[in-house]
Amino acid sequence: MTSQGPTTPDGGPVRSRRSARGRVTAVAFSTVLALALGLSGAPAATAHAPTTGGAVVVGKKLPKCRVDDKLTRFRKLKHWDKTLLDHTLRLPKAYAPKDLVPVSRAGVAGSGSVRKLVVKDLRAMAKAAKKARSAFAVRSAYRSYATQRATFASWQRKLGYAGALKASARAGHSEHQLGTAIDLRAAGSTSSRFAGFEKTRAGTWVAKHAWKYGFVISYPAGTTAKTCYKFEPWHLRYVGKNTAKAVRKSGLTLREYLWRTHESPKTRAKQRRKPRGSDAGRETETAPTSISTGASLPRRGVGQGRWAATSRSKSSMLERS
Ligand SMILES: [Zn+2]
Repeated sequence: MTSQGPTTPDGGPVRSRRSARGRVTAVAFSTVLALALGLSGAPAATAHAPTTGGAVVVGKKLPKCRVDDKLTRFRKLKHWDKTLLDHTLRLPKAYAPKDLVPVSRAGVAGSGSVRKLVVKDLRAMAKAAKKARSAFAVRSAYRSYATQRATFASWQRKLGYAGALKASARAGHSEHQLGTAIDLRAAGSTSSRFAGFEKTRAGTWVAKHAWKYGFVISYPAGTTAKTCYKFEPWHLRYVGKNTAKAVRKSGLTLREYLWRTHESPKTRAKQRRKPRGSDAGRETETAPTSISTGASLPRRGVGQGRWAATSRSKSSMLERS
């Protein structure tokens, strides 16, 4: 397990940085993105990522990390353990859990809120980590659509658009909007550094045991081609014990697992034969508009531009995907 950035995340390849100087044309933009994210056919290669073949057959069908703004299929609050979010799929802007409680409710140090349904297992995990002298604190938990917009914008200013895409999620695309994701740091650490968490006692403990408490590391080391994000050893998403166990057993990343289980055309065809009742309904928004040409033009609006409140920028820099 290696860290992919000594302090704050690096900006990826040099060509990604070039786009940072922003306000490039849409054509240049999409070229840069295609290069940076491997959208041109070949899987996006990272230092560790397998390219083709291997045990993960489903990877072949997993959609590429295409920047788009399609509403994800499972987007009701009750779908918290099924909702797939990536560069393409997003939540409605108005998606906001109504049962958020401070993480202190789970006896965890740090700040932020999570959905109530996370508390019991989070408490148990925190207790076990503490017992193993590997205590952690929460540095960031629920983030609204608006906060995520500011978060992404601050990373964009730092890393450029292509760099920011691998380090942060555009508004609507973040697991933090679910209210079930937490970013951790070692308890007692006041460092703003993200990198290196996997080498702390808390980091190694969490990597080994979090699944037992229903948490999954959404973006494991060496899986950028699958997850679309850099390694984030500190980012955990609660999916419940059964799903976390199944994900671990599958050897897949959460994105692959959710895709295969709930989203792939094959799964959906199977489910169509077995009607699921009214569960698949839409929530507050109608599906936008996505052009399914396979073209990878960046979408207007979400995640771009310089509209983030500057007063927020500083704290936003402490937050990631
Ligand atoms: Zn995170």
